Formats: sequence, structure tokens, C-alpha cells
Amino acid sequence: MTKVAFIGLGRMGHGMAGRYLDAGFTVAVWNRSKAKAEDLIARGARGAASPADAADGADAVVTMVADDAASRSVWLGKDCAATTMKRGALAIECSTVSHQHALDLSRELRGRGFLYFDSPVTGLPDAAAAGKLTLLVGAEPADLEKARPYLVPLGTTIRHFGAVGTGTVYKLINNLMGAIQIAGIAEGLAIAEQAGLDMKLVLEAVETGVAASPQVIRHSKRMAERNFAGATFTAALRQKDAAYAVALAESLLSAPPIMGRAAVQSYDRAKAYAPDDDEGKMIEIVSRPK
Ligand code: NAP
Repeated sequence: MTKVAFIGLGRMGHGMAGRYLDAGFTVAVWNRSKAKAEDLIARGARGAASPADAADGADAVVTMVADDAASRSVWLGKDCAATTMKRGALAIECSTVSHQHALDLSRELRGRGFLYFDSPVTGLPDAAAAGKLTLLVGAEPADLEKARPYLVPLGTTIRHFGAVGTGTVYKLINNLMGAIQIAGIAEGLAIAEQAGLDMKLVLEAVETGVAASPQVIRHSKRMAERNFAGATFTAALRQKDAAYAVALAESLLSAPPIMGRAAVQSYDRAKAYAPDDDEGKMIEIVSRPK
């Protein structure tokens, strides 16, 4: 079992697909925009004409695309992976999708005889390219054991939360908590700037104070310096994750998810302003003086 199809070669997927080549797998790759596959093909991957072509004969199909619509398209749309996959093949969704989509996709793909599970990830594109992601798995235990050889090249940590869908639940709460923190940093720093504080001192205090977290430290520095070069996670993706998390919260909780909804509103604005730029760029809107 060493033939893998990798679908979605964006910031994250490109590095993840490269990990399979480094580990000696036989790899077929597909991306909607063909150019992103070129260097992987030069390294030995087979460039597929469609998700169906990539999945043909694969023991495992791994996807890393933007959102529910993209996931539905590559698994179940025109020329999709599900039309050519072998019964019993592994179907591993690494994209961050909504919980409802993870469950619907599971029903569809398991119904067709594939071993579907969700394995969204944490870690930035550099961790993806280095095989140092954390994999957040929702899977039947036996399926996870079968899939382990396909997960090891991608990450250093595998967290198995339970049945299909649970990896996605954790990923969504993780990214919602991140969204709330980042939107909060933008507002906190904006207040300090407009009040005329020494921002070098503010950063030093933030980094060493009780409100610090890895997320806070990383974004506060970039925001204060207005340095958004090399965007790793965009406003559009963060808005999507926060919105999926709020939909899940609304399906589970009787109290309205006030913080989550506020974060979605902040990211609606950031997405309208600069969808494909770094998520921290929202400070440029938030910090405009009265
Ligand atoms: P990205 O660079 O924007 O790449 C998105 C990928 O999805 C591209 O391959 C894109 O194809 C494809 N895509 C979008 N719409 C599509 C459609 N309708 N049909 C087929 N393919 C489609 O995003 P990324 O940063 O790699 O993120 C990928 C996933 O990982 C997302 O779910 C994201 O939330 C999650 N994630 C990201 C990070 C991060 O730090 N960036 C970390 C953890 C998880 P094209 O190249 O043709 O546009």
C-alpha cells in the first residue's frame, strides 16, 4: 500500500504532497491551477488530469483544499475522486471543513465502500513542508491504524479525538479561539497606538504578560510592525473557520455564541478588505483614528 493521490496543492498541500515524495511513495497530484503541480512533477509525481485520474488505483486519497465547496467538488463533483477509487481505499480529508460537511462526506464515501475519516491539521506551511504538522483525527480506530503509514510522513503528532467528525470539531474550536484572540489583539494594539503609547514597550509588556499566548505573541509583533509579508493564513480562511465553528456552536448550545459571532463579524470585515492577505492585516481597518 504505497500509492497515494494528493489533491490540493496550495500553501499547505504543496508541502504535504512533497513529504510523500520524500518518503518514497508513488504519488499522483492534482490541483485546480496546474502550475502549482509542476515542481512536484519534476520531483517524480504523476501529474493527474482530474481528481478522478489522480485517485485511479490509489491506496489512499488525501485532500487539502480550501473549504466545503472545494472538498465537495474534488470528492463528489465532476471527474471526482470517488468515481475511480478502489473499494477499501483510504479517503482522508485534511482540509478544514464544517462539521456537517465532514459528516455528510463520511456518509457518502463510506456508503461507497471507502475508509473515510477527517484529519484536519494545525501547523503553518513551513511545518507542512517539514512533516511537522499535528494531525487532528476523527476516525474508526481500525481505519486509523490502516492509515497510520500515510499520516506519519505528514506530522509529528497524531491526536485521535474519537469517531469521524471529532477531529473537525477540535480543529474548529481551535481556530475559533484563535480568531477571537487575533481580533482582540488588533483592537488592543489599535487602542494603544491611538492613545500614543510607546509600541515597543507595549509589545514587550504583551509578550511577557498574562495575556500572552503563542498566537498573541506572533500576531502582535507582525501587527505592530505592519509586517504582513509571506502570508501563511489568510483572512478568507480564518473567516471560513470561525463561521463553521459558530454554526457548530449554534447547533449544540442554547446560549448564543456571542464571542464567536463577534469574531466572525471582525473577519467578515477583514475578508472584505483583503481576503488573500495575512489575517493580521485586519489591524489596518481596526486602527483607523476617529
Ligand atoms: P490555499 O493556499 O488558499 O490553497 C487552497 C487550495 O484549495 C488550492 O489548492 C486551491 O486551488 C484549492 N481550491 C480552492 N477552491 C477549489 C475548488 N472549488 N475546487 C478545487 N480546488 C479548490 O490554502 P491553504 O493555506 O493551503 O489551506 C488549505 C486548507 O488547510 C484550508 O482548509 C485551511 O483552512 C487549512 N489550513 C491552513 C493552514 C495554514 O496555515 N495556511 C493551517 C492549517 C490548516 P487553486 O490553487 O487552483 O486556487
